[in-house]
Amino acid sequence: MTYIEEVFQKLERENSNEKEFLQAAKEILFSLQPVIDKHPEYQKAGLLERFVEPERIITFRVPWVDDNGKVQVNKGYRVQFNSAIGPYKGGLRFHPTVNLSILKFLGLEQILKNSLTTLPIGGGKGGSNFDPKGKSDAEVMRFCQSFMTELCRHIGQDVDVPAGDIGVGGREIGYLFGQYKRLRDEFTAGVLTGKALTYGGSLGRKEATGYGLLFFTKEMLIHNGRSIEGNIAVVSGSGNVAIYATEMATQMGIKVVAMSDSNGYIYDENGVNLDVIKDIKEVKRGRIKEYVEKVPTAKYYEGCKGIWTIKCDIAFPCATQNEIDEESAEILVKNGCFAVCEGANMPSTLEAIEVYRKNKILFAPAKAANAGGVATSALEMTQNSLRLSWSREEVIEKLHEIMIAIHKNCADACARYGIAYDLVFGANIAGFEKVADAMMAQGIV
Ligand code: NDP
Repeated sequence: MTYIEEVFQKLERENSNEKEFLQAAKEILFSLQPVIDKHPEYQKAGLLERFVEPERIITFRVPWVDDNGKVQVNKGYRVQFNSAIGPYKGGLRFHPTVNLSILKFLGLEQILKNSLTTLPIGGGKGGSNFDPKGKSDAEVMRFCQSFMTELCRHIGQDVDVPAGDIGVGGREIGYLFGQYKRLRDEFTAGVLTGKALTYGGSLGRKEATGYGLLFFTKEMLIHNGRSIEGNIAVVSGSGNVAIYATEMATQMGIKVVAMSDSNGYIYDENGVNLDVIKDIKEVKRGRIKEYVEKVPTAKYYEGCKGIWTIKCDIAFPCATQNEIDEESAEILVKNGCFAVCEGANMPSTLEAIEVYRKNKILFAPAKAANAGGVATSALEMTQNSLRLSWSREEVIEKLHEIMIAIHKNCADACARYGIAYDLVFGANIAGFEKVADAMMAQGIV
């Protein structure tokens, strides 16, 4: 049995009920064989065993009072996974499906993603099974205040720096920051990212994950002799990542014909009108089906999976994990899709990735393609430390350079190990090398 097989078997035994975590770990571990072959000393140092085990997991109770005066209780978590190259950094997710398996998969991916950004940030993730949907502003605020009352003792600008993720946007970050400031009696802007511009946020952060995804996609297409302009795309989700991916895609000359939320999807053959989507989702916090009231020529369909049956050249899954399974991947291929670029974290199942490989689909994996969000969070931290703000153009230009560098590092990693261009291997190897070096240098900790 190889070292990697041994490590994965142990992980399976010890975490048998954590299916998403095991899925992410399997993909990562089994692409690291070339690195392990080159560095036999990693086995003696137990490097992989340490890499897949979080440094610390904090779980806590989050009690809050709803608008009817009833006490509600949710679970709160922070997974501080790896601090080899910098303070823990990663978003908070508020969604009823949140559990340790999901946060551990996200945290593990985050370690490599953060390493790929070229910036000094470690990996972490957190959240709660709280569902902000249907809650009043006052309820969301009381929940955030209770959540931060516990979390505040575990984070800090040089310790652990949370940000947003599903269900945590500008509003939630504001409430969390306000409570942190009150409890600590200090204004430390760098303790959270994704802040509003008035209190230490960065221009360009809101757009960063979606824009970065398109910058990365463009690099991948150029590398493979294709043009980005003139393609038809499907974007799943209609949250932060999906909206700004659609915005930049449209600017680059792509026609986005479909978007979704967790209830269903819209198809607009003329190209989605993003102003209408922004009004429904960002301003009114409504449902995507309201789009057809504003654009009657578009169609609405119940259910999420059907979005992958729409004919497109490029698919941008930007909603959630495992949203493209083997069957959806086969349909995409049959309909002529030539590229899948992940805005969401782990939106493709392992079986779907195999379908892409077999059919030579260009595949941009999440940890590389959506790293623009956390990269710009790190730029926000830098601006906070410098106590100044860069212009939007400066931030977007830096983001663009970072995404070009990430693509190049992934492609170069394949070339260095004699592997054909495959960004799953490239991203895992390039991200891992730096973390592994730092862990070896710091001894057995
Ligand atoms: P948002 O909460 O802003 O939006 C999430 C979108 O996905 C919504 O349209 C939501 O629909 C939909 N969605 C959520 N859960 C499901 C589900 N189970 N099935 C179908 N649709 C679903 O989150 P983000 O846009 O920030 O995040 C989207 C993805 O991108 C996540 O995987 C996240 O981890 C990843 N990501 C986010 C980054 C960021 O900077 N925000 C950075 C890197 C990755 P509904 O409104 O109905 O809930």
